Amino acid sequence: MLTGAGISAESGIRTFRASDGLWEEHRIEDVATPEGYAADPALVHAFYDERRRAARAAEPNAAHRALAELAERVPGEVLIVTQNIDDLHERAGSSRVIHIHGELGSALCEACGRRMPWTQDLAGRPPCRACGERVLRPDVVWFGEAVYALDEIFDAVALCEEFWVVGTSGAVTPAASLVAVAAEAGARTALLNLEAHDDVRLFDEVVLGPATETVPAFAAGISRQRDGVGGRG
Ligand SMILES: [Zn+2]
Repeated sequence: MLTGAGISAESGIRTFRASDGLWEEHRIEDVATPEGYAADPALVHAFYDERRRAARAAEPNAAHRALAELAERVPGEVLIVTQNIDDLHERAGSSRVIHIHGELGSALCEACGRRMPWTQDLAGRPPCRACGERVLRPDVVWFGEAVYALDEIFDAVALCEEFWVVGTSGAVTPAASLVAVAAEAGARTALLNLEAHDDVRLFDEVVLGPATETVPAFAAGISRQRDGVGGRG
């Protein structure tokens, strides 16, 4: 399944608003592009250091927990692909999580290219643990940069039986392409989001509402179906 900002929003984590292009009152161009980082690295570090602290203070909600519990009932079969850079899925207990837009809990070295788990601020320009250079940046995919693990994700989606899009419209790349691949592969597709966008033709089901309400209910329905047929559906 693919999850987005809507699932973390109910834990109090805000992402940028497409309506005005602002993220916590900063312009996206300033805090989420390579050009913005080159122009004012101190501002960008302060911004992500603050996001990292806010994410740490946030707690997983009922939607995160419902997905983790679902994965427990069908071990090895639930893969969460998330656009979110927080670790609320992991802290809810999910183990198979791919962050296509990177993570606040990771730093990327611009000298040696390594990614490394990182929990501290980057504003003080700490040295890379691998090469010692002081050019660590947030390991977050900015506009204009390639998302992570796309090949692996397309392979997984082509084989899945169900593909859910949770807390994001599913209308933007790569979500839209992934839904198309899943539908083509014969998977049952579902959109669980606060609102529907104009084009939901690729979804078999559309469930509108806050993720903390729709996801636990939808996941419970899946579990009942599986129990009813005595195995995997
Ligand atoms: Zn390095």
